[in-house]
Amino acid sequence: MSSPRVVVVGSLNVDLVYRVAHLPLPGQTLLGTGLRRLSGGKGGNQAHAAARLAAPGTTVSMIAGVGTDDAGTFLRDDLRAVGVNVGGVVTVPGPSGMALIAVDDEGENAIVVIPGANTGWTDLPTDFGPADVVVVQLEIPVDVATRELSQARASGARTVLNAAPVDRAVLCLLDDVSVLVVNEIEARELFPVDGDLDDVTIADIRAGIPCDLVVTLGAVGVLVATDRVTRIPALEVQAIDTVGSGDAFVGALAAELANGSSLEAAARFGAVAGALTATVSGARYLGLVRGDVEALARSLE
Ligand code: ADP
Repeated sequence: MSSPRVVVVGSLNVDLVYRVAHLPLPGQTLLGTGLRRLSGGKGGNQAHAAARLAAPGTTVSMIAGVGTDDAGTFLRDDLRAVGVNVGGVVTVPGPSGMALIAVDDEGENAIVVIPGANTGWTDLPTDFGPADVVVVQLEIPVDVATRELSQARASGARTVLNAAPVDRAVLCLLDDVSVLVVNEIEARELFPVDGDLDDVTIADIRAGIPCDLVVTLGAVGVLVATDRVTRIPALEVQAIDTVGSGDAFVGALAAELANGSSLEAAARFGAVAGALTATVSGARYLGLVRGDVEALARSLE
């Protein structure tokens, strides 16, 4: 049996984050401050969390596209530095994906994403096996996501689809998905939910789809629906910025599934990673340490 592996198939973006007194009005020119260039993209954030938190012996690989610009080198080097295998990050002609993120004095933001190389993939180096947990999100074309999930499933891999940004087209892909992860807004977009997301509603949704379902509820915690529904409380933290919490959750969950844990245990592990990421500004928490997350996850049992 080959050793466990998390393979993240998805987006890599350079985040250009800057401060403005207020968000610009049409036709207005403003002076900004504090420009930061950060490595981002949902796929990259998930691979980062998985690599930080993977058990010894579990490898983490990224499959993505970057452009021919220096941002491509930056994105690849940044993931390599946390131990992600970037052999599957291909270079495609043109610019890398980029997100321009303006944050005003009230903490409100305005974001423009220019997908660049994230939509330019053609032949992908897909080589999945039964010991793999393959993670896909939707900042890449749905047809690429479809093909990767189908190949992963055919190879006997476990597949995790994080349907974000939400697209109802995923409802046709669920036969190739082992675990669907969505936040509450995405769950309401994909499934008929009137009123609260209570246990009966979640159990009904689960009964109507061919895969397990995980719904993240921000500071309220997580709902896991397999053949039963489990509610996992959130870790109590002083949250300052929840950007990237969902990505950290997914990366950590995948790492723990690859380690052989149950979906419930993996979701507890993910909930801690999501909560810790909410305590820092930005989408990635550089201080994620497996031993700490394991200990905090036990406190949620
Ligand atoms: P998304 O970023 O996709 O909207 P969530 O906000 O639901 O995802 O966050 C994912 C998980 O991270 C949550 O289920 C929760 O466990 C944890 N989390 C997020 N925000 C907080 C918070 N303010 N306090 C504690 N845990 C949080």
